[in-house]
Amino acid sequence: MKILVINAGSSSIKYQLLDMENEKVLAKGLVERIGEPEYSSLTHKANGKSSTIYRPLQDHAQGLEFVLSTLVDNELGVIKSLDEIGAVGHRVLHGAEKYNKAVLIDDDVMNDLKDNIVLGPLHMPANILGIEACKKVMLGKKNVAVFDTAFHATMPDYAYMYAVPYSWYENYGVRKYGFHGTSHEYIANELAKVLGKDIKDLKIISCHIGNGASICAVKNGQCVDTSMGFTPLEGLVMGTRSGDIDPAVIEFVMDKTKMNINETVTALNKKSGLLGLSEHYSDHRDIMKYSNEGDKKSMLARKKFVYVIKKYIGSYIAAMNGVDAIAFSAGIGENSSEMREEVLQDMNFMGIDFDIEANKNFVRGENFKISKDTSKVAVYIIPTNEELSIARQTKNVIENH
Ligand code: ADP
Repeated sequence: MKILVINAGSSSIKYQLLDMENEKVLAKGLVERIGEPEYSSLTHKANGKSSTIYRPLQDHAQGLEFVLSTLVDNELGVIKSLDEIGAVGHRVLHGAEKYNKAVLIDDDVMNDLKDNIVLGPLHMPANILGIEACKKVMLGKKNVAVFDTAFHATMPDYAYMYAVPYSWYENYGVRKYGFHGTSHEYIANELAKVLGKDIKDLKIISCHIGNGASICAVKNGQCVDTSMGFTPLEGLVMGTRSGDIDPAVIEFVMDKTKMNINETVTALNKKSGLLGLSEHYSDHRDIMKYSNEGDKKSMLARKKFVYVIKKYIGSYIAAMNGVDAIAFSAGIGENSSEMREEVLQDMNFMGIDFDIEANKNFVRGENFKISKDTSKVAVYIIPTNEELSIARQTKNVIENH
């Protein structure tokens, strides 16, 4: 079976076509600047070649038609007919409390997704546009929603509840949901596979450290806690997000700056984190470069970033009464030896005996061990693959329906 994976943003569609017989990627690409007809384009990668084509695209349906015609194109295509596509898997931000696993999309599910816009106002409308485009352009094709929140549905109530008036939860659904679930699920399962153990016998800490970043505690195969919360703003220091702060800061800063609540929350999402502390750089590579050159604010951003990751790892070891294995993943987690070294140094009292040389000489793109053989806790780099995870879950839903 071939599965098309769609990740729709407000003006973009990321796609991958996978052959599930061997889990190989046949083609992948990105449609950008939908709704800006003068500039809209598709970048398509297949058969070792990358092509960018400009074409006016008014909406997501036109963007998707462009993708589909390219997939069957004589020159750039990888399939003969769209009939070869068994189903479409959609990355969907929010499943709220109802969806703890991927689901075949019908009218009821569509209505639930619309109800969830209030919980994910930045992403849900775009996710829905992507699904509606598929329903319109690929009549009769099965669509599956794979939720970023679903893996976290197993958290116990004392982990997901905030200690705020209970009615906020009952009336408005205020609680920790967690995100990056598809990635954490993939990383934890891959780590168990690499260790040759049953995930049900393991305590794992999965660190997805990219521009957006979160950590997840996985005990016996189930998420028991995660650092992102009601929105992706909670938890770690990120490229432009603050992570944890005292909520009383919000009223205080609004009073001082005369910013309104929207501007203040936008500042926490878009002008904080590495960017806020360094005052210049949200990209981790820049933080490393300028901190190495002695820029004081970049040095502070680097230290704070690492310090918070360390604290979350420590707290999840306490929450699970130990840890068997830790994984680093995503843009920074997979690539930055310095970050991993700074996080893991001085953790030997917890049984983490980390191999500085292996960490420096890791092989990019591969599952790679960076702890010593004698270490009580195994530490690995596990490159994440959210598209493959979405395709696997989609196939599973289709086959068991
Ligand atoms: P997201 O998916 O949340 O946008 P990514 O997982 O793509 O983020 O990660 C982006 C981050 O990864 C950036 O901060 C970037 O600096 C960092 N990154 C990418 N490549 C490297 C590298 N070779 N070394 C260090 N950091 C890197």
